Order: sequence, then structure tokens, then C-alpha cells
Amino acid sequence: MGDLPDKIYDICIIGGGASGTASAISAKKIKPEASLLIIEKNSFVCRKIKATGNGKCNITNINAKEYQLVSRFFDSVGIVTRTYENGLVYPYSESAADVSNMLFSNLKKHKIPILLSSTVLNIDKTFDKNNNKIFEIDILEEKEDGIKNKFTVCAKNIIIATGGKAGPKFGSTGDGYRFARAFGHRVVKTIPILAGIECRGNEFKYLQGVRVKGRINLFKNGINIFTEDGEVQFTKYGISGIAVFNMTRFMRLNEGESFNDFEISIDICNGIDILPILRAKTINGANEEDILATITKPEISRFIIDKLKIKNTKNLSDENNLELISDLVHNLKFNPVNIRSWKEAQCTSGGVDLNELDENYQSKKESGVFFTGEVIDYDGPCGGYNLTNAFASGIRASRGAVDRLGKGFERQK
Ligand SMILES: Cc1cc2nc3c(=O)[nH]c(=O)nc-3n(C[C@H](O)[C@H](O)[C@H](O)COP(=O)(O)OP(=O)(O)OC[C@H]3O[C@@H](n4cnc5c(N)ncnc54)[C@H](O)[C@@H]3O)c2cc1C
Repeated sequence: MGDLPDKIYDICIIGGGASGTASAISAKKIKPEASLLIIEKNSFVCRKIKATGNGKCNITNINAKEYQLVSRFFDSVGIVTRTYENGLVYPYSESAADVSNMLFSNLKKHKIPILLSSTVLNIDKTFDKNNNKIFEIDILEEKEDGIKNKFTVCAKNIIIATGGKAGPKFGSTGDGYRFARAFGHRVVKTIPILAGIECRGNEFKYLQGVRVKGRINLFKNGINIFTEDGEVQFTKYGISGIAVFNMTRFMRLNEGESFNDFEISIDICNGIDILPILRAKTINGANEEDILATITKPEISRFIIDKLKIKNTKNLSDENNLELISDLVHNLKFNPVNIRSWKEAQCTSGGVDLNELDENYQSKKESGVFFTGEVIDYDGPCGGYNLTNAFASGIRASRGAVDRLGKGFERQK
């Protein structure tokens, strides 16, 4: 046990994103006299929030399990929301910057100190002279003038809200997993999700930019494991769009598995049977490619006809050809080769094992340590579920940390 500083914070929050700021504000509301400190790598808090929901911030969803909890929190911090028919909730202004600003003004209102441009490098544990557990947090502060400053702060509780690995330009580079492992936690393998999917084939060069509505299915070793209706966007590398993003949540590879185990099928005329339409129209002399173009898109129609290698237009209305066209339209297959990178992903699948955390996200391995937000092994689909997790776990952890303060902090056994 070295010399401890005079100031030992009640709760130190590592990461000033959605989860960290929610936990700090929530802790202050429960126990105004608690001493808190937020340590944030970026030069301002809630950087990622500003980029969410295409700048509009899909803040929660009425169907999320923790909707009531986060909704009360938004009321208490002054974020007014609006709900759309499909359950998606946005700030009333539809401005992500407003959410970020509102959280920041609440931090200021509660006079919560924030160390900005400061990266937590390492966390250690020690004990004071009464054998109370104290966490030592090593920090590297990088000032604008380039001067670097290394120092250590101490706290009775730490909330690790460093995010996952998705969107590293916003500050989340996976540091929390290192801290978790150092405390003996299992970290479930992480992969980038809610991103586009790279597919085999060179057809994407000319499908690039095309959007179609349809039903998208994912098969793993021939078994259908995911279905969603939505818009598919073709890109230069493969496919993208909300339904595709959501599909990536089901593409975690276990030991010995590869992307070859998956097959994607898109029904681009979901809801109508294309075969009788083709039969009827071709009898009247119309060309299949033109008919298809009016139902889907000209590029898709061309692609399908090319794929069937039907060169002789005279034979197009042949019944066999019509059936082949119909099969392709209703079951357009793609072979995935990868999910896009962390840079493009909106979320992380995997993280700190939930079985090793209690109901307030406190570590069962190291009391006084809490993990919240994307660093934990939770991921939700698009629609406000991931921010709900970030806010809700932050709020619950604050309760756990404040509760520990009330009881006096833990003595070494
Ligand atoms: C482009 C984009 C759009 C999205 N849109 C939506 C949406 O509309 N709705 C939705 O529900 N979800 C959305 N998400 C997902 C959602 O933003 C995240 O799940 C959520 O922000 C996670 O919150 P967090 O606080 O756990 O992590 P983050 O918001 O990533 O915050 C973690 C913070 O910790 C800091 N940090 C990391 N390591 C250290 C360290 N060692 N020391 C100090 N600080 C550190 C980082 O700088 C960062 O500020 C989107 C994500 C992206 C990338």
C-alpha cells in the first residue's frame, strides 16, 4: 500500500458517453453529496451520441425492456421526446446534438467534475490504513498544446463505461475489455455488428446505389435463423440497410465456423406472386425485363436476366424461363464473406459476460467495479435498443455504487 491522495472520490466514471453521463447524473440525483469524477478520452462528452440516428438520435424504443426506466430519466434531465408509430423514440427536436448538450448541461448543473482529453491507462486496487478497498486509476492527460501529463486518481467505486469497439473515431476502442480481463472477467468474443455485409461476386459494381424493399432471410447451414422485411441497399461491396444491419447480430462465428456457413436470400417481390404476372404480361407481348423493371428496379431486372444468361429475347416467355425468373426474384441468393469493419459498425456484439455481473451491473469478481453500456455482452437491433441499454445500465450501476457508499465501503476479508 503506497501513499494515497487526500481526495478519494466516491465514484469514478470511466467514459463520458451515454452510459457514463447517465450514471453520473443519476448518482448525483440519488446522493447529491457524493463526490464523483468523469474521465473522458475526448475533448468533450457524449461525442458518439451526436452521430446517432443519422444526427437525430433514436434515443429509445417503447418496446425496450427498460423503456420506463430510461423514459423517467429523460423526463428528469429535461429531454422531451416524440414517439413514432413503430415505437421508435426520438428527441422532440430530432436533434442528437440537443441530447448531448442536455446531458452536458445536467453534468454542469450538478457540478460533476470532468477530466477531458484524459485516457485511463490502467486500474489497480489497493487498501487504505483501515483496510478499505481503494481503486487507483492511472490517467494520461493530453493537453491541446501537446503537453502530456500522467497522474493517478483514487476512488471507492468505479463505473467502467468505455463503450465497445464500434465507431472508434468516437473514442470507443475496446479499453474496457482490458480492464475487465484484469479483474478476472470473461469477455465474450467481440465482432462488429449493425453494419453492411460484404458478399461474393462482382455484380455489386452495377447494382451499387440500388435500393429495394423486400424480405431478407439468413440461413446457417441450411436453417433459416433470421427473417426481416425492409429496404436492402446494394453497395459496391455487397448489401446494407436496416434489415441487413439487424441480420449481422446473428452472424457471430463460433469456434470452427466461417462465413461460408451462411447464405442470404432476398425476396424482392415479397407479398406478390410474380409468376402469374409474368405469364399474363408476356402473353400480351411485353418483355420480361421491362415487366420486372416496373415491379423492382431496372438494374435489378437487368441483373436477374443476366444471371439467367437469357440472351435470346425470343425465348424469354418460355415457361421454364418464367419459372426461373420467378424463383430468382423470390429467392435471390448471396454469399456473405464478411461484416464491414469496426469503423462502419454501429455496435459491438460480445463483451463482458453478463453472468459475472449482478442486477446493478456490479462485478461478482471485484466488488465496487461496475460495467455499463456497450462494453457488456448486450446488443440490440436498430431502433433505439442500444442507447436504451447504455442509459439503463448506467442508471442501475449508479444505484449500486451509491448503495455501496451508504453501507460503508468494503473491508478486506
Ligand atoms: C454512427 C452510430 C449511430 C448510432 N445510432 C444509434 C441510434 O440511433 N440508437 C441507438 O440506440 N444506438 C445507436 N448507436 C449505438 C449507440 O450509440 C451505442 O451503443 C452507445 O452510444 C453506447 O454507449 P456507451 O456509453 O456504452 O459507449 P460510448 O457512447 O461509445 O461512450 C464511451 C466513452 O468512453 C470513452 N473512453 C473509452 N475508453 C476510454 C478510456 N480508456 N479512458 C477514458 N475514456 C474512455 C470514449 O471516448 C467514449 O466517449 C449508434 C452508434 C453509431 C456508431
